[in-house]
Amino acid sequence: MFNARGQPFRQEIFMEAQPAQPAKPTREYTVKDVLWRLRDQLQLRAVLAPTTGRYHSKAEIPARALSIRKRWRRALARLRKRGLDVLADRKKVYRSARDCPLTFVMVYGKPRSCKLYACPFCWARQAAEWWDDIDAAFFKDAVVEDTSHIRGVRTGRAVELDDAPSPRKSRRMRAHRYSLVVRVRTFDVGTYRKRPDGLRDDLLREFYLARLKGAPFLGKSCAWFARVPEINAGMAAIAREGYRSGCFENITADFAPGRNHWRVSVRQVWMVPEGADLPPMERQLGVIYRERVVEKPWRTDVMKAVAQACRYPKAMLSKQGDGAPAFQLVVARQGLRLAARYGHFRCKRRRGQGE
Ligand SMILES: [Zn+2]
Repeated sequence: MFNARGQPFRQEIFMEAQPAQPAKPTREYTVKDVLWRLRDQLQLRAVLAPTTGRYHSKAEIPARALSIRKRWRRALARLRKRGLDVLADRKKVYRSARDCPLTFVMVYGKPRSCKLYACPFCWARQAAEWWDDIDAAFFKDAVVEDTSHIRGVRTGRAVELDDAPSPRKSRRMRAHRYSLVVRVRTFDVGTYRKRPDGLRDDLLREFYLARLKGAPFLGKSCAWFARVPEINAGMAAIAREGYRSGCFENITADFAPGRNHWRVSVRQVWMVPEGADLPPMERQLGVIYRERVVEKPWRTDVMKAVAQACRYPKAMLSKQGDGAPAFQLVVARQGLRLAARYGHFRCKRRRGQGE
């Protein structure tokens, strides 16, 4: 794919020209500027759909991306007003977050992305990076399937052009020797708890710590709930000679219906070799539990599962309580890694550098 000057498009070419070259006119968006690879579908499903509703065609994307940017800029201003420490008195950080390059559409210029957790565009880019590794693990040796004899199989309406360094991949790839297992646990968690000394505890953060470290939650021991032992046990159970395996987990929180507490989802995407079984999950009261198994998954199946695990919280852009929910979302996870990858979902070249 080439741009107007005959140069190949890079993976993401951003909109606003750098300040040094203000003469360049702002580019008008056109439909062909919307990327439509699986990697892009993932970003649209993870961020654009939760914030602006389901999309039906490419033509809707540019306007929606701009509306997300508008809402993000307002949300950012609220976060600064509330005194979010990364933004306080740091104009540069604020400006880079304000002008963070859009994802979802191809545009000119390449300002730096802000890398803030709350930023919807950086959120989408992060999800796409995770997807790259998960996709590589699942479909490393998969071959393009001839689906012409199967009725009702969508053959992919768009041409798939993945990033230049990787070989071309088709949507019609299937991981024949593996199953995709999606495990979701949903919890309703309060916002704050008042303490006798007048201060308050952040219950969302307390929940995160229960999952990440097995710390007590609401006065109850949560050692059973700690992430690492659980996933390690799962990885050990599914290990098979000559097969790959992996687990991706992400914790997301968003408004529960009624908008006065949080609904927190702990979502796992497992790559399980054929013939292997994950140990059953511990079932506890007050937890909504779901599991879905897709044998021989298509690329689209895996993409949808990862997108679901990376859903951007609506609360982040909400103006409810003058941005109080967004502020809590950002503060509660400070210093914590809510996402984790295990086994072959960890890309070797980035190993050791965390998420
Ligand atoms: Zn950003």
